[in-house]
Amino acid sequence: MKNFKRILVANRGEIAIRVCRACEELGIRSVAIYSEEDKNSLFRTKADESYKIGENKRPVDAYLAIDEIISLAKAKGVDAIHPGYGFLSENVEFARKCEEEGIVFIGPDHIMMSKLGDKIKSKIVANSVGVPTIPGIEEAVKSEEEAKKFAEFCGYPVILKASAGGGGRGMRIAWREEDLIREFRSAQSEAKKAFGIDDIFIEKYLDRPKHIEVQVLGDNYGNIVHLFERDCSIQRRHQKVVEITPALSISDEQREAICQDALKIARAVNYRNAGTLEFLVDKGGNHYFIEMNPRIQVEHTVTEMVTGIDLVQAQILISQGHKLSSPEINIKTQADIKQNGYAIQCRVTTEDPSNNFAPDTGKIDVYRSGSGFGIRLDGGNGFTGAVIGPYYDSLLVKVISHGRTFNDAISKNTRALKELKIHGVKTNIGFLLNVLNHEIFKRGQCDTGFIADNPSLLN
Ligand code: ADP
Repeated sequence: MKNFKRILVANRGEIAIRVCRACEELGIRSVAIYSEEDKNSLFRTKADESYKIGENKRPVDAYLAIDEIISLAKAKGVDAIHPGYGFLSENVEFARKCEEEGIVFIGPDHIMMSKLGDKIKSKIVANSVGVPTIPGIEEAVKSEEEAKKFAEFCGYPVILKASAGGGGRGMRIAWREEDLIREFRSAQSEAKKAFGIDDIFIEKYLDRPKHIEVQVLGDNYGNIVHLFERDCSIQRRHQKVVEITPALSISDEQREAICQDALKIARAVNYRNAGTLEFLVDKGGNHYFIEMNPRIQVEHTVTEMVTGIDLVQAQILISQGHKLSSPEINIKTQADIKQNGYAIQCRVTTEDPSNNFAPDTGKIDVYRSGSGFGIRLDGGNGFTGAVIGPYYDSLLVKVISHGRTFNDAISKNTRALKELKIHGVKTNIGFLLNVLNHEIFKRGQCDTGFIADNPSLLN
C-alpha cells in the first residue's frame, strides 16, 4: 500500500480545484502548476503549493510540457500526478515517463491506455467480447478509394474519425459521395495537426442517436464495478453541454444491457482506475460502443451525486493500492451501488450564443453564485475581478443539481442558473435555461440532434 503525501495536479481550472479538494479531504498535500497567463487563477490558491511552468511556451503548451512537469514533480518530492481531463490525461508517453520515474500516474498504466485511448483499438476489444460497435472499417483507412467503397456498401451518410481523436476534432461527416474525398482529407489534416497522427477510420453515421455512457471503477486486483450511465445527448457540434443521470429515455433492460456491455469491455482489459465507456443508441434502441475514455470526465459529477461515491477520491485511493472493498472506498459488491434520485449538470461557459457561441473575453465585474439545497457548483475561473483570456477552454462553472425526481432536479438547476449573476463577459446561461425548460428535455427524450434541431433555444 502506498501512502501519498503529495499529489501534483497536471491541469488547470475547475478540474484542478476538484482534485485539490479531494486531496485535502484525504489529508494529502496538493501541488499545482500554472502558466504565466494563469497566475491570477483561482485554482492556484486552492492548492497547498503552486509553481509556475512553461516559461517562453505558448499558454496551452505549459500544461503539455511533459519533461518540465516530471522534473518539477521529482524536485518537489511528489508521489503521484493527477492529470485531470484533456491536456496530458490520455498521453501514453506521459504515463510511461511517470512510471519510469517512480511517480504514480493516477489512471490506468500506459500499456492499458495505449490499448484503449485509441478508438480503433478499443472497437476491436469491444468486438472481441461480443459488444456491438457501429458498422465500419476497424482499421485505419488507407485510401480515399477504400473509404468510398465502404460508404457505397453501407450507404451515406458516413462519419470519418481520427483514431486518436477527442473533443470532436478530426471528425467529419460525409452526407453524399461528392463530399467524401474533401471530408476525408480535412479529417486527416485536422487529426495530424491536433494529435500528430493522421489515422482515420470510417463508420456509418447514425441518425440522431442518443449518447449514453457508463462510468466504471476498477482496482489493482481485478475488481471492476460500474456506476451506471449518464445521458450526454445534449450536444453542440458533438460536444456535451448538459448531462443527466439516470437516463430517462432508455428502459431498465437497456440500461442493464449497456452497463453489462461496458463491464465486458472493462473486464476484457482488466481495467484499472476510473474510466468511461461511451455508447450510441440508435432510433431502434440498439446500442453500439464508440469509445473509452481512460480518465475522469467533465460530467463525472452527476454520477457522484446519485451514487454518493467520490470518484476523484476513489481514483487516488485505487492508485495507492486500496481495494474497492476496502473501508476507504467501501464498494463491497456491485449491489452496493445504487442510483439515488436524479442529477443534471449544466456547463456554464463564456460563450455568446447570439454570436455562434464565440468565446468571449474580458473582466468579470460581478460574479454572484447560486447555491442552496440540491446545488453543487464546480467552478474554476469565475470570480469578481477575474480576467477571462482567450487561451484556454471557456468553461466557467458547472452547475449541478440533485433532486428526488427529474422535475425537481430541473427546478433546482433552473433556480441556481437564475441566481448566478455574471457581468462583464457574455455567458450561455440564457441558452441553458431554454434547454432545461424545453418540453423534450423535460421528458428526458433529447437526442444528439436536439440543439441543432431547435434553433429557438438561442432566443
Ligand atoms: P470525441 O472523442 O471527439 O468526443 P466521439 O467519438 O466521442 O468523439 O463522438 C462524439 C459525438 O459525436 C457522439 O456523442 C455523437 O454525438 C457523435 N458521433 C460519433 N460517432 C457517430 C456516429 N457513428 N453516428 C452518429 N453520431 C456520431
